[in-house]
Amino acid sequence: MFTKNASVQKSKTPKVDEVQLLHNIGYIAPQNTGYYHYLPLGLRVLNNISKVIDKEFSIKDDFNYNIEKLELSQSSPVDLWKKTHRYPANQHEVFTYMENDKNLRLLNPTCEESITQLFKSNYMKGNSQLPKIFYQTTKKIRNEKRPRFGLVRTREFIMNDCYSFHNTPEDTSKFFKIMEKKYKSIFNKLKIPVIAAKADSGDIGGSESIEFQYQDSRGEDTLLTCKSCQTGFNIEQFNGELNENLHETVTKDLTFKLCWTADKSSLIAIYYPKGEELSINKIEEELGDSVDTETFFAEREVGNEKIVDEINSKDDLQNYLFELPIVRMIDLRINKRGDLPDWPFKVFSKYQFMNIDKVDLCKPVSGVYDCPECNSEKTIDVTRSIEVGHIFNLGDRYTNKDNLKVMNVDNASKPIYMGCYGIGVSRLLQILAMENQDSLGLNLPKVVAPYKVNFIIDNYKKDINEVLEKDPSLKVFVQEINSKQIEKDYHLDLASDIKQFDKAKVSAAVGIPINVYFNGKHTKLPHVEVEIRGDILDKDWINKLQSVVKDKDNFKVLKEHKSDNRLPLIKINYKDTYAVCDEILKMVR
Ligand SMILES: [Zn+2]
Repeated sequence: MFTKNASVQKSKTPKVDEVQLLHNIGYIAPQNTGYYHYLPLGLRVLNNISKVIDKEFSIKDDFNYNIEKLELSQSSPVDLWKKTHRYPANQHEVFTYMENDKNLRLLNPTCEESITQLFKSNYMKGNSQLPKIFYQTTKKIRNEKRPRFGLVRTREFIMNDCYSFHNTPEDTSKFFKIMEKKYKSIFNKLKIPVIAAKADSGDIGGSESIEFQYQDSRGEDTLLTCKSCQTGFNIEQFNGELNENLHETVTKDLTFKLCWTADKSSLIAIYYPKGEELSINKIEEELGDSVDTETFFAEREVGNEKIVDEINSKDDLQNYLFELPIVRMIDLRINKRGDLPDWPFKVFSKYQFMNIDKVDLCKPVSGVYDCPECNSEKTIDVTRSIEVGHIFNLGDRYTNKDNLKVMNVDNASKPIYMGCYGIGVSRLLQILAMENQDSLGLNLPKVVAPYKVNFIIDNYKKDINEVLEKDPSLKVFVQEINSKQIEKDYHLDLASDIKQFDKAKVSAAVGIPINVYFNGKHTKLPHVEVEIRGDILDKDWINKLQSVVKDKDNFKVLKEHKSDNRLPLIKINYKDTYAVCDEILKMVR
């Protein structure tokens, strides 16, 4: 199971790329761009992530609902997606296939349509009680145009998706808040720090939504967080104000950009502080109109020049310019008493200008915005992040569609309300690698580690059966470990082609919290050595371990602290092994 040649970086070298690390230690193997195989060790971690979610979903905060696990078909008829108008609108994001030359089907990237139809046909009959809540943890397929960043952007991924059906919008909101709490608890148990950010409902739709974001400079999302109240905001949802002290502070260090409105009827001239980046969302909001993206996103100087040339080449330039509506947008940091750059056209009338000034037009940067939640000044931080979960209160977005109406049984004029909730499970495997990498490899929290304890026998170049036949108590010990493997999540490494020392290195690299060494030069029974890979959280660990061992005389601490890549190590009587391992597992992260 363990990859024999697992290579881990030496200490003092910079962190290796976590996708490479996951590959090196035998967690994953790339198949094609955007597709990965999950190998036995990686799959165990993925299953452990799922177990944490299953367990959290089984906890009832009150007894008015039941979150049930199911598995939906992995594909849907394209006709079903047409009912909610997500097809053909989203056809570029899904893979379709023709079934027997007549039925066009798609591979589900998400299952709102499938579950709504299932709910309508199977759970609306008679008086089935609401709410009804279902979830699954399955592979999804999405036509990701440019797969990248390992398990973060793939075409095939594991997602935990949950869907809830309610009688009223109030019940939906109440359950949405329960799920927010459950999501926070799940990430907390996985030891993954996340920020819950108020978000845009985007393509899924609905009334409220919250993203769970993991901060990392390589992430593709922009996250805004308040240093004071810790509230997170998705950049589209952020409505904080630029600190008042910064208004009209820029007089000379400014620049301007020309672009057209989307219908090319008006010219827009935007004045803003040099070095900042314009926000198309803010500009369109202030303008009350769409901008032409081609000229908006063109490199500033080249784009400006192109527009100036284009206008100057008009036949009747003078008349054209007099009739051209021009919108001048001036960022609130610009002090108009300062020098605005020269207007590039000689002919103009002041009546053709419409001014929109004292407006914020740029993308947020750290330390200049006041928090709209707690009103603290200049506390908003702007960072990059990776989305690991997203919850939506959908309202009747899917249940009140023309052809997919799901109405209340008691009152046929009222639709059913819905929420949906998703966690990127395979993506979390990479986040765990990003969060828990050290000089030995992965130092995983015990809740997700592929095994809890690794028993490492020294039998290099010796057949295991011969070794065991020579030593009856060793044979009994090995049989005992073997019989406890499933229940206790033990791994027994009997490989004879790898030195014990190398087995230990691999074990530490893959993130197993405890190694037990036996049958070596210093570990002939009745002695074994127990090495602690996981982070010990209890300062009193030595006394606690001493208190659970029966053979106190043979309890010896060989190394107390983690240092120079050497881990805490104790020597004990082998009969105390299980009690000691159980106790260590209570005390490691
Ligand atoms: Zn705040």
